[in-house]
Amino acid sequence: MVEEVDLVVVGGKIISSASNIIDDGAIAVKGGKIIDIGKVDKILDKYKALEILDRKDSIVLPAFVDCHVHTQQYFLRSVINDKLLPMPPLWTEVLIPFEKKLSREEAYYSSLFSLMKMIKNGVAYFLEAGAPYPDELYNALNTLKASGIITMATYNVYKGEKYDHKQILNETERLLKNYGKDVVWCSIRQIMMASKELIEGLVELCEKDNTGITYHLGEYQGEVDFSLTNYGKRPLEAVDSLGVTKIKPTVIAHGVYLSDTEQELAKNRGISVSWSPTSDSILMGNHWLSFNAHRVNFCIGSDGGALSTLDLLVEAKIARSVGKALSVGLVYDKSTPTSTELFSALTENAGIALNKKIGKLEPGYIANMITINPENILPAIDVIEGIISFATGNDVRDVIVEGKIVLKDRKFVTINEQEVYEKVNDSIVPSIKDKVLELIK
Ligand SMILES: [Zn+2]
Repeated sequence: MVEEVDLVVVGGKIISSASNIIDDGAIAVKGGKIIDIGKVDKILDKYKALEILDRKDSIVLPAFVDCHVHTQQYFLRSVINDKLLPMPPLWTEVLIPFEKKLSREEAYYSSLFSLMKMIKNGVAYFLEAGAPYPDELYNALNTLKASGIITMATYNVYKGEKYDHKQILNETERLLKNYGKDVVWCSIRQIMMASKELIEGLVELCEKDNTGITYHLGEYQGEVDFSLTNYGKRPLEAVDSLGVTKIKPTVIAHGVYLSDTEQELAKNRGISVSWSPTSDSILMGNHWLSFNAHRVNFCIGSDGGALSTLDLLVEAKIARSVGKALSVGLVYDKSTPTSTELFSALTENAGIALNKKIGKLEPGYIANMITINPENILPAIDVIEGIISFATGNDVRDVIVEGKIVLKDRKFVTINEQEVYEKVNDSIVPSIKDKVLELIK
């Protein structure tokens, strides 16, 4: 009997995962999930599709996942120049003050703009690093019919002032109640910006609601000194002593200053690390990750539109170069990170990090996938090497989120892109410009 399905995607090549590539394949999708994958003739015999996306001339692969993105910092684009960079730390002097100045409407358009750029680059799932207006991010997600994890900018210590931690905990609780634990995680901005009470309250909340957590950690030398002074321990050991590492799943952002003991701890606690190759290179210098001897699960984060192109294929190229430059330079090790490891970091590893059925094209997985025009990677003898080394977000053709086509032939199905662009250009840019100029004068 022929089973009816919502969608069949046909591909000249289907990358089911880094270790499984099918020539002339097809994927059957029903109820937002992949129900079957195999040779095209077999799939078309077995299923009757309401819609067929015929991409025999293209490559079908899992959509990419951004493990660390600040969707509401987009409009700082072109502001963080070399003059501002030495300002230590950048977040207390520029990023947080900027977030404080944003209006709700600006935050909404920043989220929408970020998500649109991400989708056009083939990124169909993300972990927000901590938004000042999480509700506006949720609204933007809904407008686009996109999908990801929302967190709130969570801190109660800023420039010597300490705010009430209970109020902040109540806000996270409200978000969890409104949108659910599939969509909302807890976050901590930084241990330097959170009191012990806030951190312990978050642990309690995450455990009660059985939700994940993400935090910036091991990202700044001053933070390591702060932690040694205030806790007598390095940052990951400090949060470990406060019970934070019990929370599952946990994604640490950056982690460029994790010591050997901390890397071992991350591995033992099942914590994943999100590497931001562009911003970590620019802001932090050398990275431990290219010497990832402890094999901590790592995924890749853009760190947001203020510092990066939001294109994870560009991040992968920088990761490959930086990784090689460091490992070859110091120990003449040419092996890490390989293109296959980087492909997994953008897909499968991220699924593990976020504990979601994403990042692979297999039955039972959420149908988040993209198609890529192979023109720039021909002759595509090794298709994964080709994608990591030569493709960029511009080569992405279609994006499917939870079984629904959101971007078709680079055109949004869910929104009018031109209208959003005009609104941003005509009314958001002028007010943002004033605020930014005030901030950096
Ligand atoms: Zn960040």
